Amino acid sequence: MLAEAQQLPPLSELPGRRVYPGDPLCTIEEFIPGDGVYVDEQGVVRAARVGVVELDMVQRRISVRPIQAAKPRLPRRGAPVYALVLNMPREDLAIVKIFADERMIPYNGFFTAVLHISQASDRMLKSIYDAVRPGDIIRATLLTGAAPYVVSTRRPQDGVIYAHCSVCGTPLVKVLGKQLLVCPKCGNEEPRKVSPYYVLTEKRRHR
Ligand SMILES: [Zn+2]
Repeated sequence: MLAEAQQLPPLSELPGRRVYPGDPLCTIEEFIPGDGVYVDEQGVVRAARVGVVELDMVQRRISVRPIQAAKPRLPRRGAPVYALVLNMPREDLAIVKIFADERMIPYNGFFTAVLHISQASDRMLKSIYDAVRPGDIIRATLLTGAAPYVVSTRRPQDGVIYAHCSVCGTPLVKVLGKQLLVCPKCGNEEPRKVSPYYVLTEKRRHR
């Protein structure tokens, strides 16, 4: 399971990913299998057909849709987006890469955006590291309609939806009702602005 899990594509590369039958996508702890996928004996969700990966973050469902002709798609002001946290040039600023819209459908290309500490949480933060960290996947709201893109994670539904342990690299799990994530392997606890759409919960993980 562990060896197989390490071959899984990162969540930020799943939406819109072109896949072939048998390609590993994620674990059943992360997403519920939908159309065009199957689950193997190790609990790995795999593509059942040639197509494009779709993620439904509300239902927490992964599907593979047959390939269709793509229309040009660009981020719009006010839209919820999904992004990968790249780095922190300062204690109060994060650089993120927007990769998909609210329905986890990828845009035409990637868009770099900034997340300022004042827009990271509805609470006062000492450092932006208390809200997001490099490698996190976040759900955010786009505050601008063109470059330079600015995002916010202040809204209740926005925040981190997937993160790895800074100590051992294991995917972190959400502790219900708290703004922190915990490592199921080494017990490390890390603060975050956690979205209700966070993929792994403590209960699901320990089932
Ligand atoms: Zn850990």
